[in-house]
Amino acid sequence: MSTTFAITLPSGEVWTPTFVDSLDQEKCIGCGRCFKVCPRGVLQLVGLTADGDYVQVDEGDEDDDEEYEKKVMTIAHKELCIGCTACSRICPKKCYTHSAAAI
Ligand code: SF4
Ligand code: SF4
Repeated sequence: MSTTFAITLPSGEVWTPTFVDSLDQEKCIGCGRCFKVCPRGVLQLVGLTADGDYVQVDEGDEDDDEEYEKKVMTIAHKELCIGCTACSRICPKKCYTHSAAAI
């Protein structure tokens, strides 16, 4: 049986943090806002090819956008998430799903 990770705050209130779970790449416009606010290096912007493969994005190379159809965000290091939800709050397309952690 699993239990949900929760914290008892100094006030005695129980808080259940939610951590990044998934993001909807169909909705993602690759704006990079979530990447900029994430304090933990969880996210990575990549190029998505017509075949559905990920390729590295080189921001300094103006020609590399020929290799992919669009830029999308990925959750590269889910294990580093601290559940601040900044990514979700700043995303203009509501791409993110956060969920409580099971322990
Ligand atoms: S919830 Fe916070 S730490 Fe986790 S991915 Fe989003 S911005 Fe990064
Ligand atoms: S803020 Fe939202 S739309 Fe912009 S890159 Fe992040 S997930 Fe995609």
